[in-house]
Amino acid sequence: MNFNTVKGQNLSIERIQADIEQGRICGAYLFSGPPGVGKKMVAICFAKALNCKKNNFRGCEECSSCLKMEKDAHPNLRIIFPEKESIKIEQIRNLKAESGYKIYEGKRRVWIIDEADKLTQEAANSLLKIMEEPPSDLILVLITHIPRTLPSTIISRCRTIQFSRLADREVTEILREKSVLSNNLISLVSQLARGSISEALKFTQSEEILREREVIFNLIKKNKSLSSQVFKLSERWSGKQRADIETLLNILLFFLRDILILKVDGQAFIFNRDKLTDLLNLKDNYSFSTLYRSIEAVEQSKVFIKANVSTQLVLETTWMKILYPEQLTYP
Ligand SMILES: [Zn+2]
Repeated sequence: MNFNTVKGQNLSIERIQADIEQGRICGAYLFSGPPGVGKKMVAICFAKALNCKKNNFRGCEECSSCLKMEKDAHPNLRIIFPEKESIKIEQIRNLKAESGYKIYEGKRRVWIIDEADKLTQEAANSLLKIMEEPPSDLILVLITHIPRTLPSTIISRCRTIQFSRLADREVTEILREKSVLSNNLISLVSQLARGSISEALKFTQSEEILREREVIFNLIKKNKSLSSQVFKLSERWSGKQRADIETLLNILLFFLRDILILKVDGQAFIFNRDKLTDLLNLKDNYSFSTLYRSIEAVEQSKVFIKANVSTQLVLETTWMKILYPEQLTYP
């Protein structure tokens, strides 16, 4: 893996390569952009290029340094990520202690702080101290999809490189290389992933998500005899990881969005192309206001779940709001 093999981030990569080639490398970078679009991959390629023994600005992929980087076994590369939901001060202290040792081989230490938005206050302060008097051989790469949550004192010391969502076409290419999905499913998953490879891979690694999608769709059809399934579904979902619940809620949102779009004849813009005929039949069962309220309810449920409100209760209520909108009275 080197800069050439990363798909869809040409602009960000060009900026980083220009820094290397012109010898203008900064002490700290902030890689900002949606989750799952290749930020960490580019950060590792950056570390490779900086340490390549053949001085190849792309990373030669052959020298001992490039090979060790590939296996995450190079002493100059450290990747830090949240342990139990946060990056703690001990993790930064350990790094700091290491930086006291003479550089082992190669040229630059690269510390990648993945999900930097999860730094605790103490960890962020400790990192800031390092950034104020950085060792000359150190490059920090902070990765986040929510930069606004980082202290401005940290952001102001970083060169920000913005990453964008991948085009559906790029997600399709990557899925073709990586997975054994049929062509039909690849195009569906590429659309549902909305430009995020990590999201797309969730679909390919677990058929369960696609099965749940069918359950969601049957409920959306407003088959009242299925209503009791809402409780089983909520129980089942509440046992899942928060990120997976969000994926399922997004699938639900995409269906509601598609129905809304079909109501204004926007057939060309829907995500769930495989369900087009059913969705066209469904669009008159939903009024605009029901759709708006349902979408709002799902968006709100994501916020509640993030805030640790009982997931099962939130899911049950959300589904009931969608299935029985006539029971809702608004002031
Ligand atoms: Zn190399």
